[in-house]
Amino acid sequence: MQLVFATNNLNKIKEVQALIPNHIKLLSLKEIGCFEDIPETQSTIEGNSIEKAAYVKTHYGYDCFADDTGLEVEALNGAPGVYSARYAGEQRSADDNMNKLLTELSTKTNRNAQFKTVVTLQLNNKQHTFTGTCKGEITSTKSGELGFGYDPIFKPKGFQQTFAEMDLSLKNDIGHRGKAILQLVDFLNS
Ligand code: IMP
Repeated sequence: MQLVFATNNLNKIKEVQALIPNHIKLLSLKEIGCFEDIPETQSTIEGNSIEKAAYVKTHYGYDCFADDTGLEVEALNGAPGVYSARYAGEQRSADDNMNKLLTELSTKTNRNAQFKTVVTLQLNNKQHTFTGTCKGEITSTKSGELGFGYDPIFKPKGFQQTFAEMDLSLKNDIGHRGKAILQLVDFLNS
């Protein structure tokens, strides 16, 4: 079975491929000839996830699943949230985004945050959403080289390392995307 994962983010593909049963081959957007940025115009993570999955079905005709993720910081009333990718500007730079967040939090004592992922499965003209969260805190400096995005400044609850210091299987076990993808896999198996 082949299933389109509506992303060209190789880090996400690597994480998700490790969780999907071997008989399901993931196709990236490039592999179906989609090279443009899919519009993300909604004001919620769930809305953007649904929008991405629907776009692929409408424009390319494939059933698929999409993921949208945001980092919600308590002391910033949930920001950057749905705007996580462009937090420091349109260049969508992970370093710029982390630097901005560290500056915003420099005077705050509450460093609590959570990642939230909404996965939308577009299948047989129906949509199904699966949500995964991971609570933790924002560190005061970057640490680690693994992962991507905000991983070097996110320390999940109960752990002494950031996501960027964890191997893929541990991040997948405790992380937001892993939790949402496991629900997707359960659904596909049922
Ligand atoms: P999107 O889901 O690709 O729109 O991601 C939104 C933003 O969150 C981007 O800046 C990503 O780099 C970041 N992001 C998404 N997933 C993760 C993750 O698992 N760890 C760290 N940052 C992430």
